[in-house]
Amino acid sequence: MADTELYDVAILGGGPAGLAAALYAGRDRYSTLVLEKNGLPGGQIMLTESVENYPGYEHVSGADLIGHMADQARTFGADLRTGQEVTALRREDDGTFTVTTNDGEAAFRARALILAPGSEYRRLGVPGEEAMRQMGKVSYCATCDGAFYRDKHVLTVGGGNTAVEDTIYLATRFTARTTMIHRRTEFRAQAVLVEELYKHAAEHAIDVRLPYVVEEIVATGDGTAIDHVVIRNAATEQRESLAVDGVFVFVGMNPNTAFLKGFVEINELGYIKCDPVFLRTSVPGVFVAGDCRTRAMMQLATATADGVTAAMLVKEYFRDPHWWETHRRVPEQEALGW
Ligand SMILES: Cc1cc2nc3c(=O)[nH]c(=O)nc-3n(C[C@H](O)[C@H](O)[C@H](O)COP(=O)(O)OP(=O)(O)OC[C@H]3O[C@@H](n4cnc5c(N)ncnc54)[C@H](O)[C@@H]3O)c2cc1C
Repeated sequence: MADTELYDVAILGGGPAGLAAALYAGRDRYSTLVLEKNGLPGGQIMLTESVENYPGYEHVSGADLIGHMADQARTFGADLRTGQEVTALRREDDGTFTVTTNDGEAAFRARALILAPGSEYRRLGVPGEEAMRQMGKVSYCATCDGAFYRDKHVLTVGGGNTAVEDTIYLATRFTARTTMIHRRTEFRAQAVLVEELYKHAAEHAIDVRLPYVVEEIVATGDGTAIDHVVIRNAATEQRESLAVDGVFVFVGMNPNTAFLKGFVEINELGYIKCDPVFLRTSVPGVFVAGDCRTRAMMQLATATADGVTAAMLVKEYFRDPHWWETHRRVPEQEALGW
């Protein structure tokens, strides 16, 4: 049976950004729908046991934190539906939206949308990566997990700006030793960053090795830690084993925005374009929040802050739809791809 109730706000994605938006919209007494494609809400943070940088919690697992966030949103009336992957969106002539999901029977309607489908870290796709990720020994985020590697030896993988910056961050603040590999003979990162990397190399024990790839991450006998990593020289094909405590993979992210192409403006990397202050997209009535947007900080706290901002600004839009046209993006923002 088609569900044709008109919600005030429909939130696409039940990660931290979506749940924070749902809390605020629900508490403002807007009828609020959250559509989450997975069987459980929570998004990326569900993949970690250990969060130490969400204000108010010294240590919390992703699942516990999300449990509280989802309960809180429901308490204020948010209608949280899981197993609902949004596949298409349409803006109707009256300015409302129709949202279609993979559940062919369901179509939802809303007066405003908040897009919060997040992003996913790209994986290496090598044996051992997933098992060691589950043990917290393979990470994709230096800010999130760097502090767990004080005085340890880590391997970092990647050749872009993030890879170089985050390798410097890890080596200068936490690790005793850092081996960095990249599959090409030259970095993609800006020259100034690469210079900085080599400047820090001797003092902070950074060993940069090019062109190398990871072949396998091998666990200790009990499966709880990394015993060694097999790396291969892409030019000579020679393999070697490296004993490390952790692996940081910095090979980019994929925003979950394929289903939004043609509906809102998206940049060449797949991130949803918005003005960074009001989080408005190219379509009036459609806000964006979290890791899927341009200039996102890719952190829990910033994703939830986005959700809050978007939900609060829905009020402005309902009060005066022409508000959308005011405070237009300035040329500097356009130039930066905001
Ligand atoms: C292993 C790991 C550890 C991390 N540790 C930390 C940490 O310690 N501290 C920190 O600050 N940050 C950490 N992060 C980053 C943090 O998890 C993200 O910044 C945050 O989750 C972003 O929230 P989001 O809501 O924007 O997106 P996401 O968390 O990606 O949530 C998006 C949600 O939308 C859903 N979705 C996607 N497409 C659709 C669709 N078409 N229809 C319906 N639903 C859809 C997804 O299933 C997902 O549930 C970590 C990330 C990972 C992967």
